[in-house]
Amino acid sequence: YEVGPLVVLSNRLPFILKRDDAGNLVRKASAGGLVTAVAPVVVRCKGCWVGWPGIHLQDLSEPIPESDSNDNTPTAGLLSKQVVPVNIEREMFNQYYNGCCNGAFWPLFHSMPDRAVFLAENWKAYSQVNQFFANRAIDALKALDQTSQIPLVWIHDYHLMLAANTVRQGAEEANLPCKLGFFLHIPFPPWDIFRLFPWDDEVLQGVLGKSVNQSSTKVILGVDRLDYTKGLVHRLKAFERLLEVHPEHIEKVTLLQIAVPSRTDVKEYQDLKEEVDQLVGHINGRFTTPNWSPIRYIYGCVGQEELAAFYRDAAVALVTPLRDGMNLVAKEFVACRVKDPGVLIVSPFAGAGETMLEALVVNPYEINDAASVLHRALTMPEDERQVRMHHLRRRERLNDVNHWMHSFLKAMGSIVNGDEVIQ
Ligand code: UDP
Repeated sequence: YEVGPLVVLSNRLPFILKRDDAGNLVRKASAGGLVTAVAPVVVRCKGCWVGWPGIHLQDLSEPIPESDSNDNTPTAGLLSKQVVPVNIEREMFNQYYNGCCNGAFWPLFHSMPDRAVFLAENWKAYSQVNQFFANRAIDALKALDQTSQIPLVWIHDYHLMLAANTVRQGAEEANLPCKLGFFLHIPFPPWDIFRLFPWDDEVLQGVLGKSVNQSSTKVILGVDRLDYTKGLVHRLKAFERLLEVHPEHIEKVTLLQIAVPSRTDVKEYQDLKEEVDQLVGHINGRFTTPNWSPIRYIYGCVGQEELAAFYRDAAVALVTPLRDGMNLVAKEFVACRVKDPGVLIVSPFAGAGETMLEALVVNPYEINDAASVLHRALTMPEDERQVRMHHLRRRERLNDVNHWMHSFLKAMGSIVNGDEVIQ
């Protein structure tokens, strides 16, 4: 297999350091499958290994001893310049290693939450130590011999679940290209156990190599049956125009479009699908970068629970039919905004557009206008979003589906002897 220089991060270096009677550092072999398998590769590819040396060094420039001539362990060929120690102060190491890694993650990840202890100070130490590891990984990347191959930063295990994220940021800032890989050597628990960890989100974002801030990346949501009345083609063109006119949104905004198959045996609908597929491909082809694609397109039906999560998390809901009776999506979006206020954009040609007065209104046929309303929604200050959403939610709570049913039945009930009732 082809691999560029490897930068391995693991809790411990592949050997530990001790002091002899004269106070000099000496290498002591440590066993384990990871070392046996990975150390020879690091030696061969002239990579390096970042880890805790098992001892507190006086400072990071204290020279690491070379292996002696009797050394026949897998790390024998690992030169001192390939060894990148991480210095961690004793109490912090205790909180990080014994407190967080062994006291929380180990039992939790083995699905034994009763044994897990979650303490904020341990989590803080864990975050700081992960930061130290990431900083040393950046040092290591800078020191690597420049080759044509992109280095791979390979992060190991539950001790370092936040490091990928910080490495990514540091590498981007220092303009150091690298690939990131993470390997967990213990089981990953089911979701209902994992979520017991109070900082579960941070852990997931860390493992995925994305910061929480870098992620809440804004999503514009569209949810429609794939029907020509829904204005999908116009909407996609408006989004394309947004990226043309406001390139500052590139890599910052994604359009998540759910298109539910509809009347699939009708030629007109088949043609529409073809047109939408092509347009999505065209826009993605035009704007995609190595880290981002502008459109996530789901051709299929999403369950109510998942849909509610999309509604809850999207920054903007784009409800822009060319003509529509009411449009429930607009109402469902508002109903799901229990916390962060998102922005609703509606078409005046949907029933919802006539009653949801605090939404931003856009004529879907006006592509330029739609792009600038999108920009406005994406940059709307939080206080304005909050006020608009507050009123929208209040109205929908009062005029919900029960209200609609009761008012209709009441009107029907008031018909006496076939009198006409006009609402
Ligand atoms: N919907 C769904 N899964 C999806 C997409 C839509 O359950 O993947 C639901 C959505 O929650 C809404 C309905 O489909 O209740 C669409 O209703 P709307 O009035 O917006 O449009 P219609 O399809 O009736 O024209």
